[in-house]
Amino acid sequence: MRRAYKKTISFLRTTGYCLRTKVDCIFCKIAKKEVSSNVVYEDDQVMAFEDIKPSAPVHYLIVPKEHIQSIAHLEGNHRDILSKIIYAAKDLANKFGLKGYKLVFNVGKEGGQVIDHLHLHLLGGWNNKKDIEAVPHPGLDK
Ligand code: 5GP
Ligand code: ZN
Repeated sequence: MRRAYKKTISFLRTTGYCLRTKVDCIFCKIAKKEVSSNVVYEDDQVMAFEDIKPSAPVHYLIVPKEHIQSIAHLEGNHRDILSKIIYAAKDLANKFGLKGYKLVFNVGKEGGQVIDHLHLHLLGGWNNKKDIEAVPHPGLDK
């Protein structure tokens, strides 16, 4: 019995299923370094990494290490972590010399959120006049 239990736990771990949060989440796996990513910032609560399919010349995702589903799922005790996420974005923008940038939270399926782990998109790197004129406005066709 004990052996079967251990085997199940071990299998669940290999799939990335988190026993504590009971979710199978790619960003939790990235935060725990079970899945590789190009990390550009990390502290005890927050991690930032390159988006695998960038929508801008510079595209980072800033996430809490704790599994929070979305902005709509924030609770009172998340104020500090949200503040840290926003400051991490600002610091990264400075570090990478972004003069202007977009910060985007997609919230829920209806808001375009695909990964159900809260993340802030940091988008930028449009430098020449032509690219700047073509910077997409969120949710609106140009
Ligand atoms: P959402 O639409 O949920 O706001 O954005 C999710 C983002 O996560 C997308 O821009 C997508 O390209 C990115 N993404 C999805 N899976 C992975 C992954 O495994 N690694 C990384 N680095 N980015 C991912
Ligand atoms: Zn997660």
